[in-house]
Amino acid sequence: MVKRNSNIDKTLKNLSLRKEAPKSAFILLVLLYTITSFLTTRTSVMQGSIAIGDQMIKYNSFTGVFSMLGYICIICLVMLFRRVGYIVSMAAIILQFPLMIFNIFVRGNLNSLPGLFSSVLVIGAISIIHFNYKKVLNYQQSIREQAVTDRITGLPNRFACGELMADLHKRGDPFALVSIDINDFKSINDTMGHDTGDKVLREVARRWKNLANSLETGTIDFIARNSGDEFMLVISDYETADVVEDTIRAYKTELEKKITLDDCDYYLTACFGYSLFPEDNDVIDNICLYSDAALHEVKKVGSGSRLLKYSPYVLNTERTFEIERKIRTALSNNKIFFHLQPQYDMDHKLRGFEALARMKDDDDTYISPVDFIPVAEKTGLVDRIDMRVFELAMDFLDKATNERNSDVMLSVNVSVRHLMKNNFIDEIKRIISSHNVAPERIEIEITESIMIDSAEKALQRIDEIKAMGMKVAIDDFGTGYSSLSYLNNFPSDLLKIDKSFIDQMNLSESSRQYVAMIISIGHILNLKVISEGVESPEQVKVLKDIGCDYIQGYVWGKPVPPEEAAKLMESF
Ligand code: C2E
Ligand code: MG
Ligand code: MG
Repeated sequence: MVKRNSNIDKTLKNLSLRKEAPKSAFILLVLLYTITSFLTTRTSVMQGSIAIGDQMIKYNSFTGVFSMLGYICIICLVMLFRRVGYIVSMAAIILQFPLMIFNIFVRGNLNSLPGLFSSVLVIGAISIIHFNYKKVLNYQQSIREQAVTDRITGLPNRFACGELMADLHKRGDPFALVSIDINDFKSINDTMGHDTGDKVLREVARRWKNLANSLETGTIDFIARNSGDEFMLVISDYETADVVEDTIRAYKTELEKKITLDDCDYYLTACFGYSLFPEDNDVIDNICLYSDAALHEVKKVGSGSRLLKYSPYVLNTERTFEIERKIRTALSNNKIFFHLQPQYDMDHKLRGFEALARMKDDDDTYISPVDFIPVAEKTGLVDRIDMRVFELAMDFLDKATNERNSDVMLSVNVSVRHLMKNNFIDEIKRIISSHNVAPERIEIEITESIMIDSAEKALQRIDEIKAMGMKVAIDDFGTGYSSLSYLNNFPSDLLKIDKSFIDQMNLSESSRQYVAMIISIGHILNLKVISEGVESPEQVKVLKDIGCDYIQGYVWGKPVPPEEAAKLMESF
């Protein structure tokens, strides 16, 4: 479809053309017509009959059938192959005229007279079909042209771009898809009005179309408008991937030249994200997704080259972006809530609960904290999640102690990042003071990493937490390679052995010894020890033997909604 000397208008025309019927159909129809014409002539002069069943049918009775079949072939030729079909059909019929005229006027054989009449009638009929059908086809084509053209800029639209990519894909020709977004275009619309905005878009489209048609870039380019201020550029016929970036830069330069409209100057810039077929992926949908992801990434960064090639890293940040959006929506729609996982002593007596953040998507499906907590930490939203869960957990603890007279412990997770903030203690104090809860019933879980990353400041924070009367637990212990001296200096109360050690514990003697050693160290340092992620009674038994203090795990209880946790308290 795209040849060296092709231009966008030609390509558009090609895209909007109705697909031709195959050549083999043409040959078949001409052949059929020739055979039926021969049979028509032969049977018209044949004497005698043929026996069909017990009936004798004259040969010349078949003349009408064969001639009808011939005309059907002619009509099909005209409809399927338009101009060519019409010319060939006309020629085929007219070529028979001399013989028919010779038969009638020279030989005096009037048998050819009906044939001559019907041929004249068929010429009239196919002429009517051809010229009327042509009008319908022209109309259909103009509709198809509109369907692949953008109304404002006259450029091919997204659909046309998809067709072009499908074509390149089918032929296995490598191409680059570039997603383009004009920076701050909204401000032109807002300040100068949409008419001016449209004029600017038309000017941009004109420049880019000229550049594509000039073939100056050395590659074959196809520029299309996606929507609004977004464009798509398909670059093909390039030698190396470096050439792709040179071509993109040519479009960038063309865009950044001053645009003067109605005495006003406009200076535009844009962001470009691209991906390569088949290098990045061999599915067109993914190529589109990847170039969009690269575009979003380069837009987020804001400055710099404003040009980015897709890499798997980009897609990850795309996902991060998506989750960040979901967290923000969930925070404002109260879709952040919590579940409580019970903790027991070794006699299966309830010690308390760990509050675990839960989040629901727009469609009410759960998103795991394993997915959203790291994103929340990266984007600074974790503080708000922590505080939301803390507040809900305090509501629960308030009711548990005052209405149910229970003395359960309530553990809440706090991100290191949040803990280090100056207003952390104030926020906690504010929430606690608005509830009727005893601080010594609250336990703050902090991951072991805090001891390595920021020991000094962390120590000060933990002292403040302790001064308020709350307890401190070291979460996921064993995963962060913290030194014993740090642990010794840390005024914590509880050590939570990470699930990964509990998983291994019954698989080898050394793993069992390792857990036993952690428990001993905890006890030496005057800490209680809880094992996380305990899933089997065998693990419970071993943990009992090696002196563990508490158990938290599916074996005795999964995280449950607060209402179920309340019922659980009543049963103890
Ligand atoms: P974590 O604090 O170590 O919490 C324990 C995780 O292990 C929870 O996963 C819990 O559901 C899971 N778990 C407990 N017992 C078992 C078991 O027997 N088998 C298995 N397979 N899993 C078990 P969850 O709820 O997905 O939380 C994951 C992590 O997300 C938490 O690990 C914590 O680091 C973080 N997180 C959860 N809620 C919050 C929060 O409110 N704030 C902050 N900053 N982080 C939170
Ligand atoms: Mg925890
Ligand atoms: Mg943990």
